[in-house]
Amino acid sequence: MAQAVPRFAQLNALPDWRTVDFISDLHLQESEPGTFGAWRTWMSATTADAIFILGDLFEVWVGDDAASDGFEARCAAVLREAAARKPVFFMHGNRDFLVGRDFLAGLGVTLLDDPTVLVFAGSRWLLSHGDMLCLADVDYLKFRGEVRGAQWQDAFLSKPLAERRAVARALREQSEARKQSGVSCADIDSPAARDWLQACGACTLIHGHTHRPADHALGEGLGRVVLSDWDLAAAPPRAQVLRLTAGGLERMALA
Ligand code: MN
Repeated sequence: MAQAVPRFAQLNALPDWRTVDFISDLHLQESEPGTFGAWRTWMSATTADAIFILGDLFEVWVGDDAASDGFEARCAAVLREAAARKPVFFMHGNRDFLVGRDFLAGLGVTLLDDPTVLVFAGSRWLLSHGDMLCLADVDYLKFRGEVRGAQWQDAFLSKPLAERRAVARALREQSEARKQSGVSCADIDSPAARDWLQACGACTLIHGHTHRPADHALGEGLGRVVLSDWDLAAAPPRAQVLRLTAGGLERMALA
């Protein structure tokens, strides 16, 4: 299926950055304290010069007012503490696209457009959550177009918090039911990924979303590197960081 390439934002790494860490798809939620704890520990311990969160840090986000107390507030505190020490960048995923730019700025965190080209150590790296490239997920992409618009968001955010939480629960139950019935999400469309890379002059796409960590060659020197999701309650537990240095990419298992 043909698809127009999006507009690519660009971020230039600061000259003193030696190490950059990427994570995504932690799906943080109160019922998974192990994953939250591993994330909190890593955020305070990483020696990277910058942290990039490439979507779905949160299982769900129903509005920034939900972070005035409780689990969301504890997550916000972790972000604030990390951002006080080093640059932290946050890209929206399909679960947490309602995290607000101003809310993040208040924590010292920078919202990153999807997609963004990171210029680091003389190379261009294309960063995306990845959901936009799952072209076979036709119904989802239609839904995405709707919920990323100002009209839907204004209407949703004007509902009482309890009602928004109920809507999120219902959507999650639907998604769980789909998973139980054996329907799996589509994977990244390789021709579209190649088109994006060629359009922005990068060789490697770094993305999450699919929960299928792997390195894929796309031909002509192009490739994509898929981040792992995190689940400390799984057997074996999953928690992985992708680290970029001048020497290239390296996966670090934390669990
Ligand atoms: Mn996702």
